Amino acid sequence: MDNLIPVINRLQDVLTSVGINTGIDLPQIAVVGAQSVGKSSVLESLVGRDFLPRGTGIITRRPLILQLRNITQNKPSAAAAAASGGASGGASASSPSTTSGNPTTTTNSPPQEWGEFGHAPGHRFEDFDAIRKEIERETERVTGRNKMISAQPITLKIYSPYVIDLTLVDLPGMTKVPVGDQPSDIELQVRRLVLQYITKPSCIVLAITAANTDLANSDALKIAREVDPDGARTIGVLTKCDLMDDGTDALDMLHGKIYPLRRGYVAVVCRSQKDIAGKKNIRDALREEEKFFRSHAAYRHIAHKCGTHYLANMLNQIFMHHIRDTLPELKARIQTLLHENEEELAAYGDSMLEGTGNPGALLLHFFSKFARSFQEAIDGQLATQHL
Ligand code: GDP
Ligand code: MG
Repeated sequence: MDNLIPVINRLQDVLTSVGINTGIDLPQIAVVGAQSVGKSSVLESLVGRDFLPRGTGIITRRPLILQLRNITQNKPSAAAAAASGGASGGASASSPSTTSGNPTTTTNSPPQEWGEFGHAPGHRFEDFDAIRKEIERETERVTGRNKMISAQPITLKIYSPYVIDLTLVDLPGMTKVPVGDQPSDIELQVRRLVLQYITKPSCIVLAITAANTDLANSDALKIAREVDPDGARTIGVLTKCDLMDDGTDALDMLHGKIYPLRRGYVAVVCRSQKDIAGKKNIRDALREEEKFFRSHAAYRHIAHKCGTHYLANMLNQIFMHHIRDTLPELKARIQTLLHENEEELAAYGDSMLEGTGNPGALLLHFFSKFARSFQEAIDGQLATQHL
């Protein structure tokens, strides 16, 4: 079933490049939350690298579709692969903390990790600072510098031995008060954009709230409840567990006593502003996070269900099951689309597809070709599952 994630990623690339509304909604995990709750911190922890723009105000102004792909440099032995599969409950990919400092088998050169943007295919960004600058540049290219937001997504793939296969969408943080020259309806604009993503039943909502704030006031949980009243596709994340007042803890929240969610909550601790200013490495921070939960009197007994490592594995499992559940519908949609395309393509005539033909028709042609191979991949996957 792991093979489904790359298939979905490829389809995502095609849909984004076609840029037309195909009516196909792909399974996604969208990250939502108020400004400064720790959305970027959680994403960077999942990747294990600093690569997102930082600052105050609305930093994420276009959705960022982040496709994480696990790569192993030297194929691990079958025994090692089986062991890691067992440890993560069936997920074959490795995870940030199990592999930190020792990505695969012994090698002296540092592990290769790189990013590639959908708008610059084939260009490997090995410098993660350059990735951050490219996100900023590409954001400004479409939105200008004046803090406007746009629904047009940026696609970024990260290939790394430290990540687990996942596709996450980073959305602008919810804000109340316009700052600087932000438009006065910025709150509404962000809300509309977030809803555009999370209203789709194919979207899993990663609702982020800081543990040191009141769960009842959480913007993330409020907006998630509007589109998913039963909490069937919402996962709660509690950040900043280290910042709670002495003598208090997040257990009631984690156990769903304050605001129940069927899929529950995961507690995490990311780097503080001081850690970031002091250039603390994320991998060191991940080790400290593990230690925090294991040694804390309140969390010790549930430490195995806390932290970024657990969150990554849980999301990977949920994502794969979600893809499997949405496959029949996706298959039907693609079939319809193919059918419609065939009529449209026939209407354009072959001459239009050659030379200086209509770019829309060319894209449709490309898409219908892709859709056929996708169909075969899905049929193959469904057949394997029935074995
Ligand atoms: P975003 O606006 O939701 O993307 O939030 P950021 O990830 O930029 O985080 C906002 C601030 O909170 C930053 O200064 C982070 O260093 C800090 N922060 C995030 N998570 C944690 C955490 O778990 N513990 C502590 N102490 N600080 C955190
Ligand atoms: Mg952010």
